[in-house]
Amino acid sequence: VRAPMVAANWKMNGSRAICREFLQHFDVDGSLDVVLFPPFLYTSILTEGFAERSISVGVQNVCNVSSGAYTGEISAEMAVDSGATYGLVGHSERRNLFGESDVLVAEKFMACQRAGLTPVLCVGESFEERLEGRAESVVAGQIDVILKSVGIKTFANAVIAYEPVWAIGTGETARPDQAQSMHAFIRAFLTKFDATTAENTRVLYGGSVNASTAAELFAEGDIDGGLVGGASLEFKEFAKICRSVSR
Ligand code: PEP
Repeated sequence: VRAPMVAANWKMNGSRAICREFLQHFDVDGSLDVVLFPPFLYTSILTEGFAERSISVGVQNVCNVSSGAYTGEISAEMAVDSGATYGLVGHSERRNLFGESDVLVAEKFMACQRAGLTPVLCVGESFEERLEGRAESVVAGQIDVILKSVGIKTFANAVIAYEPVWAIGTGETARPDQAQSMHAFIRAFLTKFDATTAENTRVLYGGSVNASTAAELFAEGDIDGGLVGGASLEFKEFAKICRSVSR
């Protein structure tokens, strides 16, 4: 059985004050995996504050190499040293705004696993790609690049987040049946390589999830939780989303 997971991607938002609000007021029951992805600078505040609680912290990006003359970069090893346990990889904002290629995304995925961070691989098609009927092939291609680099078995320690680009930050959530259909496709795609891994890999949905849309999405059989952007900065709203997971 796949344990449900709800993750918060704060993007370049948040502050020490918001971290303190979460530390004081945010809690969830232990059978749900909750991961907060704050900007790097807030990693330690949260990992130290949440040390006694079952709330994990991840980083939104890592450098593809471990250390050295890469001014401004932060490695997966440093994230681990600050208490992080997850790393987002291949978010569409990284791919589109910062030009991250499939090859770089694969390197970052491997950098996470090398350092001991569980990568959360974001995949998803653009609006044009969906209109052209290419949504499934685009998503399969994004996963395939990783499979070719690391092999199916490493997905035992990874999470996939399906995030249709047209649904991110737009207020336009995918319909539950639309999302379910892609999640089932992703699982079927993984099954071709290894059925057990496919069965055990969590696939989260991301794209304008909020407290009123979460329950319906999370009730679908192949949707194992969510990756939440805009609605994750307010601890009450995010807690509601976490409680929408039915077990
Ligand atoms: C995201 O950034 O991963 C995301 C899903 O954003 P939003 O919920 O704001 O669409």
